[in-house]
Amino acid sequence: MFYKTIPCCVRHCTICKIRKNLVIFAPYFKDGENMILYDNHNHSQFSFDGGRTTVEKSAVAAREHGLAGLCFTDHCDFHVPPMKAEFEHLVKEEFDVASQQAEIDAVSSRLEGIRIFKGIEIGLYHSCRERIRQHLSAWKFDQVIASVHYIDDTDPFYGGYYRDKDWKQAYGHYLETLYGEMTWLGDFDVMGHYDYVARYAPYPQSSILYRDFSDIFDPMLAYLAHEGKAVEINTKTYQDYHGRTPVLDKDILLRFKEFGGEFISLGSDSHDPDRTGDKFGYYAEFVKALGFRYLTHFEARRPVPLPV
Ligand SMILES: [Zn+2]
Ligand SMILES: [Zn+2]
Repeated sequence: MFYKTIPCCVRHCTICKIRKNLVIFAPYFKDGENMILYDNHNHSQFSFDGGRTTVEKSAVAAREHGLAGLCFTDHCDFHVPPMKAEFEHLVKEEFDVASQQAEIDAVSSRLEGIRIFKGIEIGLYHSCRERIRQHLSAWKFDQVIASVHYIDDTDPFYGGYYRDKDWKQAYGHYLETLYGEMTWLGDFDVMGHYDYVARYAPYPQSSILYRDFSDIFDPMLAYLAHEGKAVEINTKTYQDYHGRTPVLDKDILLRFKEFGGEFISLGSDSHDPDRTGDKFGYYAEFVKALGFRYLTHFEARRPVPLPV
């Protein structure tokens, strides 16, 4: 693999107008060489729910799955809804950043053939805004994923959120909350699983479609495109949940592209080694068929788009 550094305006893209320091590392493929894929959303033993793997186990598995690299984006939710106590023992859902980063350095130094990046999945919550901002400025990450896990003091995983709402209210309110919190924050690279709310929902309407929520998707996707941020394809969403299987709506990605968006990030949201890079071949082709030129990962908070 040979890399050359070029300014992104060579490709007539709109992004360099916004992120002036952006440089694309353009890889030159030899004939027949495989696509280079990075898994940008993984959890390790440092996540509160990461007991099934370690940095080393997932990195070894990612290498076996043919990935070029992976980023550990452990959970950091400063607010945990008290209602979770009905179902599980409440624990702090923050991680020790210094220990996680030291472990990534240690594993990186002894493991060849895989690149490992330092990330965080920050859980957005209105009452924690200032704390989130301070935390992100206190540490150096390769990549920050902004996600909503808890909403209105409920955990959608346990169903309480959906009570007294129809599917349109439940999904719409989640998308509006995600949009409001991430635009307030600004300091992130990837919008995490916008369709998280559909995974555990009780409705026959199992997927979030552009046509049902165009009023909120339009400002959301325009914001991401104009700010040079990435939309995540979180492959954990597209599996069976009690007989329902949400699907990725291509119209959401096409609308992002219409707004000038170019950065798509693949993330397995793995909590165990087997799922690293899950379904990436399929979604890489999906993105390519829609006319996107790159898949993007982040290094030192800069987007690195690689051709698909
Ligand atoms: Zn998440
Ligand atoms: Zn996650």
